[in-house]
Amino acid sequence: MSKTWRPATQLVHGGTLRSQYGETSEAIYLTQGFVYDTSEAAEARFKGETDGYIYARYGSPTNDMFEKRMCMLEGAEDARATASGMAAVSAAILCQVKAGDHIVAARALFGSCRWVVETLAPKYGIECTLVDGRDLKNWEEAIRPNTKVFFLESPTNPTLEVVDISGVARLANQVGAKVVVDNVFATPLFQKPLELGAHIVVYSATKHIDGQGRCLGGVVLADKAWIDENLHDYFRHTGPAMSPFNAWTLLKGIETLPLRVKQQTQNAAKIADFLAEQNKVAKVIYPGRADHPQADIIAKQMKGGSTLIAFELKGGKEAAFTLQNALEIIKISNNLGDSKSLITHPATTTHKNLSEEARAELGISPGTVRLSAGIEDTDDLIEDFAKALAKVSA
Ligand SMILES: *Cc1c(COP(=O)(O)O)cnc(C)c1O
Repeated sequence: MSKTWRPATQLVHGGTLRSQYGETSEAIYLTQGFVYDTSEAAEARFKGETDGYIYARYGSPTNDMFEKRMCMLEGAEDARATASGMAAVSAAILCQVKAGDHIVAARALFGSCRWVVETLAPKYGIECTLVDGRDLKNWEEAIRPNTKVFFLESPTNPTLEVVDISGVARLANQVGAKVVVDNVFATPLFQKPLELGAHIVVYSATKHIDGQGRCLGGVVLADKAWIDENLHDYFRHTGPAMSPFNAWTLLKGIETLPLRVKQQTQNAAKIADFLAEQNKVAKVIYPGRADHPQADIIAKQMKGGSTLIAFELKGGKEAAFTLQNALEIIKISNNLGDSKSLITHPATTTHKNLSEEARAELGISPGTVRLSAGIEDTDDLIEDFAKALAKVSA
């Protein structure tokens, strides 16, 4: 029955495990371990002859509820909740490769994701090629006999480029490689990588899934066979498990995900249109606008625009700083997906570690600003921008 529920219903009721007390809200099972009635019961549990929990690093009831709810939303068979988005990304990639394997990744990646494939993996003898992910030809040319994993995020941070996920999946299937998609920017509501042919989806639940700036979390979703074979043991023995308290917070966050993302996307779309009209703004990149350079791919693989906007000010870094400093409602923060509107200057914050050349490759100029639209009243946000832009010298 629950399989036929629409997302808004799944996100309120999906996966709920009620205790004998019949609580309305999901319970927090904040426990490290579990007790057994008898020695025989413990033996049977360890042998896998009976169902049940053994130790919270392996799994626990509140985390189970979060994983099940995410599986329903994503259309995945199985999942593991992790302590952060980076724990999810690094587990999803490292659990399936060994020395001598090769990874192809889009170069436009969240900074820490890029470090995992570009810097960490080679230390263990896993080679990595970074490509401009916008062109399928680049993915194809990077394939080697030992290519095992394709890794991408779409839309990308911060310039909201997109990658043709089904095109990449087709190439991967030809060589038996697995496609891992970091779906944070699209959210599970606007893009379904598994339906597009990807094999593994990862989230930083820290972003839209919490959506209220409280706790870190992540999740890896895939088919059960892949998880059993690759992630299961890696997860148990390296220990990236999510805290049950955070799983509970995220379960409550997820209930309102569709409402928040809808309002955030509406705000982002209106702000993008407003910014595009301003003469101090050189360009606006927004996946919901017809002038996005890859609007055709967006129409093919996304069900909605985005809660994020990238735009470039003609006056460079000085204009960007003046604008950010003059905003009252919109806060300066490198986080995203929050109920509060947040703005950041990638060249001096999230992408400061890249060379100027590498930034230019990603379309990040000194005037580039990224906005994560919150759930505030649209008119207040537009007025905030109008007032702040007036302080930017022409
Ligand atoms: C934030 C983010 C991550 C990392 O998530 P944490 O929860 O901060 O560890 C990974 N990928 C993308 C696209 C992100 O935005």
